[in-house]
Amino acid sequence: MEKIVALCKRRGFIFQSSEIYGGLNGFWDYGPLGCELKRNIKDAWWRDVVQRRDDVVGLEATIIMHPSIWKASGHVDSFTDPMVDCKTCKKRFRADQLCEELGLKLESVETPTGKQFKLPAGAKCTACGSDQLTEPRSFNLMFKTFIGPVEDVSNVAYLRPETAQAIFAQFQNVLSCARQKVPFGIAQIGKAFRNEINPRNFTFRSREFEQMELEFFIKPGTDAQWHEYWVKERMKWYESIGLPASKLKPYVYKKEELAHYASACVDVYFDFPFGSQELEGIAARGNFDLSQHQKHSGKSMEYFDDETKEKYLPHVVEPSAGVDRIALALLCNAYYEEWAPTSESAGSAPIPAEHGKQPPAGFESRVVMRFAPRIAPVKVAVFPLLKNKPALVEKAKEVFHLLRSQFVSFYDEAGNIGRRYRRQDEAGTPFCVTIDFDTLGEKGPEMKDTVTLRDRDTLKQERVSIKELPARIAEAVK
Ligand SMILES: [Zn+2]
Repeated sequence: MEKIVALCKRRGFIFQSSEIYGGLNGFWDYGPLGCELKRNIKDAWWRDVVQRRDDVVGLEATIIMHPSIWKASGHVDSFTDPMVDCKTCKKRFRADQLCEELGLKLESVETPTGKQFKLPAGAKCTACGSDQLTEPRSFNLMFKTFIGPVEDVSNVAYLRPETAQAIFAQFQNVLSCARQKVPFGIAQIGKAFRNEINPRNFTFRSREFEQMELEFFIKPGTDAQWHEYWVKERMKWYESIGLPASKLKPYVYKKEELAHYASACVDVYFDFPFGSQELEGIAARGNFDLSQHQKHSGKSMEYFDDETKEKYLPHVVEPSAGVDRIALALLCNAYYEEWAPTSESAGSAPIPAEHGKQPPAGFESRVVMRFAPRIAPVKVAVFPLLKNKPALVEKAKEVFHLLRSQFVSFYDEAGNIGRRYRRQDEAGTPFCVTIDFDTLGEKGPEMKDTVTLRDRDTLKQERVSIKELPARIAEAVK
């Protein structure tokens, strides 16, 4: 994980927020490569979940919404984590995480005012070993702010802790304009904020993050079949962006683990270097959210079925994914250390690096990010063989401009070709195109206007005509 964090900073995937002021715990910025990666994840999700389907439409709601939304959704009263403090060293913990680390289970009892937690016997501070811990107190995870100049209770608002609630609140508006019939879905991508007690595992648990959520509205009684459908769809999608099935695990909730209104829930887990952790939850939530908003707003949330002439509150299946977690999973999955031939034109394939050993003669170490071409931040890099030959540079720039009109492309003329390849390997660029003297026709007319196209993973190089290049690359990155 340390190597991945270092690469993320070195190559401009992820930086600490406000680093020059010492950083801000739980906040992260995406650099030039990172923001392309994130954009590709969101674009892939939006295309597959919204644009390529007949039965899903989009929504983009505000981050700050009417505070009654969070009262109705239950977030004001119960979106809390149990927090404990060590009285000796003053360190603060999330009680459930502390217990988990100690191999204990946090005890909880239902009371009329919500859950109350109790530390089990044997709980101690994992930082200093003291057993002087406070009793767990509930801490609401919503960030609070004020609307307008007066900072009093009547002006309190919250930064949304999830994007889903706006979809329920706008259900009738979307229904009346979108010409959709149940079953249909409303999708949204956007920022969400949670004031985590203990942000950790790099970007995995952050205080500001981005979600991709779908609320798929269905006829009551069809919950099980639609839930199963969306679990399958979502597992397939993860494979389509390059996360292998072998590292993805569905976790099926047991009856006693479900929220009282939910009939099923499956979390998609990914094997991170720091353990198996959740990327997405797919929950069958019944009509809980719509009925809560109907109750609190006094507005009907019912749906009228033309065919059966009945009115009902639709049930919902909710696939809810974290963009930043998916980005981190892709970064972890893509990272490889290899030994690559010093001269790539020799045609040898790379071999896996052996830990703590030097590469054999004729090979050098490389770090390569094997992103699926569809998701790679940069699709193609263009190099003139030499930068001091104006004819090569001119031709290379011509090819670069041709490719840039269709793909995120990168032009590089600094350093020898081998170093330029290594830089693109670390960026995860699937293709490199080199313009050499053959391209100019110096070895004969049959090679004129051809370039070498180099594959990041196999290191294979082939001669391709400039005319064919865009189609070749388009096929691989679609
Ligand atoms: Zn302590």
